[in-house]
Amino acid sequence: GPAPEAETHVADWLKAHAQGFGHFIGGAFVPSTGGGRFPVDNPARGTRIAEVAAGTPADIDAAVAAARRAQAPWAALSGHERARHLYALARTIQKRERFLAVLETLDNGKPIRESRDIDVPLVARHFYHHAGWAEMLESEFPAYAPVGVCGQIIPWNFPLLMLAWKIAPALAAGNTIVLKPAEFTPLTALAFAEICRETGLPEGVVNIVTGDGETGAALVAHPGVDKIAFTGSTEVGRLIRRATAGSGKKLSLELGGKSPFIVFEDADLDGAVEGVVDAIWFNGGQVCCAGSRLLVQEGIHERFLAKLKRRMAGLVTGEPMDKSVDVGAIVAPVQLRRIRELVAKGEAEGGVLHQAGGKLPETGSFFPPTLITEVEPASTVAEVEIFGPVAVAMTFRTPAEAVQIANHSRYGLAASIWTENVNLALDTAARMKAGVVWINSTNLFDAGAGFGGYRESGFGREGGREGLYEYLVPAWRKAQASASGE
Ligand code: NAD
Repeated sequence: GPAPEAETHVADWLKAHAQGFGHFIGGAFVPSTGGGRFPVDNPARGTRIAEVAAGTPADIDAAVAAARRAQAPWAALSGHERARHLYALARTIQKRERFLAVLETLDNGKPIRESRDIDVPLVARHFYHHAGWAEMLESEFPAYAPVGVCGQIIPWNFPLLMLAWKIAPALAAGNTIVLKPAEFTPLTALAFAEICRETGLPEGVVNIVTGDGETGAALVAHPGVDKIAFTGSTEVGRLIRRATAGSGKKLSLELGGKSPFIVFEDADLDGAVEGVVDAIWFNGGQVCCAGSRLLVQEGIHERFLAKLKRRMAGLVTGEPMDKSVDVGAIVAPVQLRRIRELVAKGEAEGGVLHQAGGKLPETGSFFPPTLITEVEPASTVAEVEIFGPVAVAMTFRTPAEAVQIANHSRYGLAASIWTENVNLALDTAARMKAGVVWINSTNLFDAGAGFGGYRESGFGREGGREGLYEYLVPAWRKAQASASGE
């Protein structure tokens, strides 16, 4: 393997917790009040690697109470003191980057190359960046106060990175947290909980409760929570919006997408091919902002697809701990089934299927890089988020038609535009109904830039100044919140 020492550390760590992981509440690891547990699998092998506590409403109660007790003292620290805690978290994450990368890959199935070179460095960067905001909070946001206790619910596709996107800004702004990781991938969140303890983060500032959708729903419904931040499916986002309506809870939702990837005929075609590889085969396409709708201008359509198919054929799908692997495992059998069904639907609707060859591992959940061509813009696979390594290709004649097809979506998360004509690029970018637009690039993330969607992709932004407003309220609310006595 690429990091045998880290692999040994992870194996030892899992062995040391063979009796099961507890929740992290009030600075201590505690079992579920119900005594329940659920298994965590390695999707690349289909083997069980751990058991974690199944969160009950009583566990959520305890975690919210711990967060409430911790909130006023945490908010009362100076920005500089909170920054020191965030810097300590960032540094410890960096020190443990190999361990965290191996654990993430075991739990999620993403290639070690990605968890090591992309996920974990972005996690550290997010904490460093928000340490800076903590330092600047009083001067940059003089008329704002923290929201209070934040309930945060995250998906399985970037387990530690989504945790960082949620926790770092909330802490910087003086909030305390109850976070529920996704049931498929709770392990790096528990490793992060250990880091919170080691670095001396005050007890109760961060609480982690593991569990499934029911645990999440109990957190959403809890009257002691002032804000819910959710990343996940549009379907669950809708449930949460309904459940919080009229409650006074602040809410941000980061949901699904079906983002267009537009290649104009004057584009650097080799660059654009590499862009597609990144847009739809990075993390096996299990990316909310994946460039899953490929729109290619008619004049270059055949040439471009020929190049793309050649490149796709060279991609290696397999054991994610292997450094040479491009596409790892699909997170769980249920997701694999969903991808298979949607691809079959695409063929039934008249799409033409192209797939990377090569033998897939015999155990675990794998799906090869896939391209469906000759897809109609109104077909199921052109509209529904597949959340797997599957791009659908369509053609357009004019820039106006490209814009029209690109915006024909219930989502509005991201868009990627490829052309050497800067005027065309900027004009098209301005017409995209999307929260993020990339030009001659894709999947670029920065802690300083607000990320988020329009329409059914949700609302609210994560990252940078805009992201901080999600965790702040105008200052007069501060007195009111503490007067409520919660
Ligand atoms: P999901 O909605 O099924 O689950 C997300 C989280 O919500 C999990 O922790 C789950 O346990 C919890 N949950 C489930 N039901 C709940 C309920 N009723 N109340 C409260 N919590 C509940 O989504 P998923 O399958 O884990 O993730 C994939 C989806 O997430 C995709 O649609 C993808 O586009 C989206 N996503 C969006 C972004 C973004 O930033 N916009 C980022 C990553 C993933």
